[in-house]
Amino acid sequence: MGSGQVTSSVPFECQGKHVTVAGLGVSGVPAAKALHGLGARVTVVNDGDDTRAREQAAGLEALGITVRLGDGATLPEGTELIVTAPGWKPDKPLFAAADEAGVPVWGDVELAWRLRKPGAAPWLAVTGTNGKTTTVQMLASILKAAGLRTAAVGNIGVSLLDAVLGEEEYDVLAVELSSYQLHWAPSLRAHSAAVLNLAPDHLDWHGSMEAYARDKGRVYEGNRVACVYNVADKATEDLVREADVEEGCRAVGFTLGTPGPSQLGVVEGLLVDRAFVENRHKNAQELAEVSDVRPPAPHNIANALAAAALARAYGVPAGAVRDGLRAFTPDAHRIAHVADLDDVAYVDDSKATNTHAAQASLAAYESIVWIAGGLAKGAAFDELVAGSAKRLRGAVLIGRDRALIREALARHAPEVPVVDLDRTDTGAMLQAVQEAKRLARPGDTVLLAPACASMDMFANYNKRGDAFAQAVRELGA
Ligand code: ADP
Repeated sequence: MGSGQVTSSVPFECQGKHVTVAGLGVSGVPAAKALHGLGARVTVVNDGDDTRAREQAAGLEALGITVRLGDGATLPEGTELIVTAPGWKPDKPLFAAADEAGVPVWGDVELAWRLRKPGAAPWLAVTGTNGKTTTVQMLASILKAAGLRTAAVGNIGVSLLDAVLGEEEYDVLAVELSSYQLHWAPSLRAHSAAVLNLAPDHLDWHGSMEAYARDKGRVYEGNRVACVYNVADKATEDLVREADVEEGCRAVGFTLGTPGPSQLGVVEGLLVDRAFVENRHKNAQELAEVSDVRPPAPHNIANALAAAALARAYGVPAGAVRDGLRAFTPDAHRIAHVADLDDVAYVDDSKATNTHAAQASLAAYESIVWIAGGLAKGAAFDELVAGSAKRLRGAVLIGRDRALIREALARHAPEVPVVDLDRTDTGAMLQAVQEAKRLARPGDTVLLAPACASMDMFANYNKRGDAFAQAVRELGA
């Protein structure tokens, strides 16, 4: 961790600037409107030219914004800045053209960062492969319990642009950032930040694990008070070491074990702080009980510790950490307990869309009938299956890439009974749940933790989780 000359960003003056917004959609439309409202001359370019795009374009054109549909590759004449949708891959021709012309490219986060008003609320930032949303919501809940005006923003809830430009005043923001957003946010400087964990994901976008890690690591650049890392995930600590931070900024670890100095951890059922206390070599501060964290699965306790570390870095008292964690309710489809039927628990973790998330989910239960499968996104399942084999009562496989999981089960858990469902119609989930019920024994958990994306069978993971919950209700009826 080096400290030195941390360049602070210059507030952005929009008036009269030629700005090209790349991509319509959730970030592009509000960005175009905001820039237009601030006096910029905005052109939106978009690859697609479908009905939805035309509708959005018409709305923007009515405001006087130029929109070019079906051509996201050509740099509009006179462009001084590109504001891109975070999902646009860096190897797109538009960016090569921008590079050649010396035009900077910002994402939605960089734009929001540059448009903050003087004296605006500092950002407490969270990234990582899994657990971001949960952690940011826990953090916001803790900050609120401390009486601070705050919101969970970024990938969730309020958009960053709204938070920065809107009327509502905040003391501090709890900001969720994806690796794409960080890639396009070169001058972002958080008060403090956490990288929760680092496992292969979105590698098709970033090009390599190194590039993915580098983009995640940007969240630590220029931190003022604390860089929070996961003691159990050395890659996160390495990123702290490589970051250039402000003088006096500290590396603070979180661990499910007993914390050392400058760490938060767990001692005899208590969440404990040995970082933000007087004389951390001798003292520790109790923050909350493990049972204050819901659900009290190991990975979720890690999320709570990371949220607590960021809140404590901001100066929040211990009591507010406890109150905030108690007040927190997890979002739907994240280890959501659906029902108990015949002494079997049914749990919906449809949000476990990659193997790292599913691993955490499977680690939270002793004896599991696992419902898994969908779109594998290039993942391998050997490590996941080998690590969870002893907990599996059985498995029910659904979705397009289920053979990959079946083969991993055959290699690492040949004794586990597997039901392979060769159907993708709307009734498939009901059959999956019926098969799972057949395999389950009293005391077991039927766990939907697909380790895959859902789009082969469902519109999104919410719909997949809803289908599971509906099927469980039908089973119990
Ligand atoms: P994100 O916003 O990063 O996608 P979420 O909080 O929405 O994260 O959780 C997504 C899924 O990841 C959860 O359903 C759970 O299966 C898993 N998960 C949550 N926290 C962690 C963690 N700290 N480590 C591993 N997996 C996790």
